[in-house]
Amino acid sequence: MRKKIVHYGALLAVPAFTIFATTNCVNKKAQSNTETNATALTDAPAQAPQNPLVANWTGPYGGVPPFDQVQVNQFKPALEAAMAENLAEIDKIASDPAAPTFENTITALERAGQAMNRVRTIYGIWSSNMNNPEFQVIEREMAPKLSAYSDKITQNEALFKRIEAVYNAPEKAQLTAEQQRLILNYYNNFVRSGARLDSKAKERLSAINQELAGLFTNFSQNVLADETDYVLELQNEADLAGLPASLREAAAGAAKTKNSKAPYVITNTRSSIDPFLTYSDRRELREKAWKMFVNRGDNGGKHDNNAIISEILQLRAERAKLLGYQTHAHWRLENTMAKTPERAVELMEAVWTPAITRVREEVADMQALAKKEGANIKIEPWDYRYYAEKVRKARYDLDQNEVKEYLQLEKLREGMFWVAGELFDFNFTPVNNVPVYHEDVRVWEVKNKTTGQHIGLWYFDPYARTGKRSGAWMNAYRRQDKLEGNTTTIVSNNSNFVKGKDGEPVLISWDDANTLFHEFGHALHGLSSNVTYPSLSGTAVVRDYVEFPSQLLEHWLSTPEVLQRFAVHYQTGKPIPQHLVDRIEKASTFNEGFETTEYLSSALIDMKLHLAGDQKIDADAFERETLAALGMPSELVMRHRTPQFMHIFSSDGYSAGYYSYLWSDVLTADAYGAFTEGSGPYDKEVAKRLHQHVFSVGNTIDPAEGYKAFRGRDPKVEALMRKRGFPVKEAAGAKKAPAKSKTKSK
Ligand SMILES: [Zn+2]
Repeated sequence: MRKKIVHYGALLAVPAFTIFATTNCVNKKAQSNTETNATALTDAPAQAPQNPLVANWTGPYGGVPPFDQVQVNQFKPALEAAMAENLAEIDKIASDPAAPTFENTITALERAGQAMNRVRTIYGIWSSNMNNPEFQVIEREMAPKLSAYSDKITQNEALFKRIEAVYNAPEKAQLTAEQQRLILNYYNNFVRSGARLDSKAKERLSAINQELAGLFTNFSQNVLADETDYVLELQNEADLAGLPASLREAAAGAAKTKNSKAPYVITNTRSSIDPFLTYSDRRELREKAWKMFVNRGDNGGKHDNNAIISEILQLRAERAKLLGYQTHAHWRLENTMAKTPERAVELMEAVWTPAITRVREEVADMQALAKKEGANIKIEPWDYRYYAEKVRKARYDLDQNEVKEYLQLEKLREGMFWVAGELFDFNFTPVNNVPVYHEDVRVWEVKNKTTGQHIGLWYFDPYARTGKRSGAWMNAYRRQDKLEGNTTTIVSNNSNFVKGKDGEPVLISWDDANTLFHEFGHALHGLSSNVTYPSLSGTAVVRDYVEFPSQLLEHWLSTPEVLQRFAVHYQTGKPIPQHLVDRIEKASTFNEGFETTEYLSSALIDMKLHLAGDQKIDADAFERETLAALGMPSELVMRHRTPQFMHIFSSDGYSAGYYSYLWSDVLTADAYGAFTEGSGPYDKEVAKRLHQHVFSVGNTIDPAEGYKAFRGRDPKVEALMRKRGFPVKEAAGAKKAPAKSKTKSK
């Protein structure tokens, strides 16, 4: 009953090479370009002294975001002031008359850009959590400007010369390992961003980046528009056939928010569509809902994304060539654990065959059940969730709605806190003394359970609402570092649970509970950070490693310790009965063919689109033909069809990188084995090693080395196959574990 958590939520309008590369479920800063995340000596920009978005954060815990002072019309002047301030800082570093040293160049860069970090943090939150038409106008205007600003830094020749000098200096050998890695990161990021190009090529590169930034913004806004504008109206009791009470209530609530004339409305987001497809007895309505959802961004008219995709792909291909890479995929993969697209594809293909074989078995089961029920149908994509749920019930006697009664959002949150206490010695206390941007947001202070030392803050924004992106994600409002004293981190978890009636507990599905733990895993990764330099902090690791800590944490949901204490019935308070837990366990690989195939088809299309080079691509045709060549079963679709594939077209973030979830899951499955081979999920020694080599180190060490230090060996792919219920020998035998290749030090 668990599923691969693949969710989305990134800042809109992230410039191509920005310092603020964001991840999907992790929105984090300073990933693709270390030159910045960083941090200014002082604040107080002369340009906009009064703008609260630019000002230093004040208040408790070393300052907190001034959410109570945000006005949308302040974003533009704040961004402009912060860009100007940061560029001035950069110029000062670049034109320093002193010979380049680690301190006056690299450390100085780490300190620069603090005002920008503050503005961009809140800007990103408005983009993801508080979006509205007024804000979108600003996004469209600012996206290319932010891109150009970012390029000005990476294309600053004097600055790059200094970085290069530090990189080549013999004194480097005397620095700490973390400092050496930081230098390497700067050097690589600058080179990868075109620092070595001649001025004409640089100019073209910057033009491409700006154009891409605008296209990314349009792409995202189009998807959001189709998610907002299309709804499925349900007119009467007959239209509600099969829907559980919680879904009916949510649909009634949505009708009100949408000002619909119909009494019930299914909105065009995953959190409403998936349950509708699972439970609605009305096949023609399921078909309608399914089509509405899978056609987001593909409806013709002004919100159609096909032309945008084609342009993005061509610009990316041109940029890769300009930078000296065969394709965009080769450029993107270079600084990941996988290293090359070929190795990522190799892993995907190893899992693809058993996955589609499993789909055929699942379809046969569903087909048989439908026939038994007297339905003379061929299973179509809008039937999959519906009949899968029936098979699940029949085979495992497992009703997701029955399980849900034991899964109260707030209890599970307490369960996560308890897990964090056991594994990392964290303690969470609610606080009311900091501003929030919406009344639904709550904040906790995190302390060390033993020493009482302040660790950071955790903001929690759990509910869906208009203007908030779908999916779930984490972001860091402020990163941990020890540049001066100890700057503690501020992280947040965001999701789209449907808020229940006032005073009633919010019940969530098993899948959603997994998602909750997943995002909390990212948060713990951020909170555990113990590094010196901000651009190496917390979740600022390579893309195909970042999902490892989060996917790993999902495992603790199903531990008896959590279930017994926190999965308690919302009415009786009784813990979930063992027989139900056993059935969940038994059904854990059920529907894995569907889960893996819908994910992998997206991941393969992503990679193949970005390996296709500069040919002109018609997204719909490419998708159709590629899937046919892969042998995609006709009974399901990609989890994210190309015209709505936000991961890869709302920024460069996950482009040629959607495979990362699978890559990370190889590590996850293998890593959990360290606990089960030890004294269990709460083995203190293993948890300590996990903290020491994985959660606390950020990007200060090579992730492959960190993993090996934790596990005592390289990861093996077998655990993943077992976790997904696929045959181990046949599929994995010939394949090497992905992380075997070392991250080479350049
Ligand atoms: Zn994630």
